[in-house]
Amino acid sequence: MARYIGPVCKLCRREGVKLFLKGDRCYSDKCAFERRNYPSGEHGQRAVKLTTYGLQLREKQKLKRIYGVVEKQFSAFFEKADKMKGVTGDNLIELLERRLDSVVYKLGFAASRREARILIRENHFTVNAHKVNIPSFIVKEGDVIAIKEKSRDKVKFIETLEASQRRTKPEYFELDRENFSGIVKRLPKREEITLPINEQLIVELYSK
Ligand code: SF4
Repeated sequence: MARYIGPVCKLCRREGVKLFLKGDRCYSDKCAFERRNYPSGEHGQRAVKLTTYGLQLREKQKLKRIYGVVEKQFSAFFEKADKMKGVTGDNLIELLERRLDSVVYKLGFAASRREARILIRENHFTVNAHKVNIPSFIVKEGDVIAIKEKSRDKVKFIETLEASQRRTKPEYFELDRENFSGIVKRLPKREEITLPINEQLIVELYSK
């Protein structure tokens, strides 16, 4: 399935929850979901009772949309999570959180994961001083993620870092503002990742 390129606020209204896909706007009173928290369209406000399968599917869609992952990539992540030691659902979310686009967003170098993906593909970042332009790159403990020297004077980054201060930062990534970099202090744990997701439903979906 191709990546969704339509209006992203519709996705939050469709899923009935804020997915934080639009950067600063999501934290302001301009958020579309704050004004209309029901699906768009003529029958949007009609209550729909979902089947178990429907609930499982919606949960998967929500998680895919939050991290901006297409179906094929998501299945590969699930397979990897399933092969790892521990709880598959926890592994899945911890792996997604370790994607470079998610780390760049969480450190405050981008206003959203979507923007982070664009900036990574445009070659603005390094990992351990090596150029990395793959948004799905998985970081490890101790990795240092930095904005390339040539990109550091860009007003956009300075403004984004400034605006990101109002977001709660996770403890597992540490920002070094002075050096336009951040370090993976330790790997994230599921219970530290605040998400409106019941990953068990996704595990059940894939176990069918
Ligand atoms: Fe969702 Fe953000 Fe749009 Fe609000 S502003 S509806 S949280 S994408």
